[in-house]
Amino acid sequence: MSEEAAKETEKTAKKKKKEKGVFSLYKIEGDKILRLRPTCERCGTGYFMADHGDRYTCGHCGFTRYKPSGK
Ligand SMILES: [Zn+2]
Repeated sequence: MSEEAAKETEKTAKKKKKEKGVFSLYKIEGDKILRLRPTCERCGTGYFMADHGDRYTCGHCGFTRYKPSGK
């Protein structure tokens, strides 16, 4: 019984380690911090928008912003 409980605890610990790092959303260049994703203009800074190819979508409010075409 106690062995099973230990296994369960191990599983939970492993799952917790697999969290997405928010650091991947930022890039530090010199003394500047660049945001690699746009933030939602409705929700404010801190709410990053998901990259969907030709557009960005906010998972919080559902706001969609199309990327400027051409480059
Ligand atoms: Zn939003």
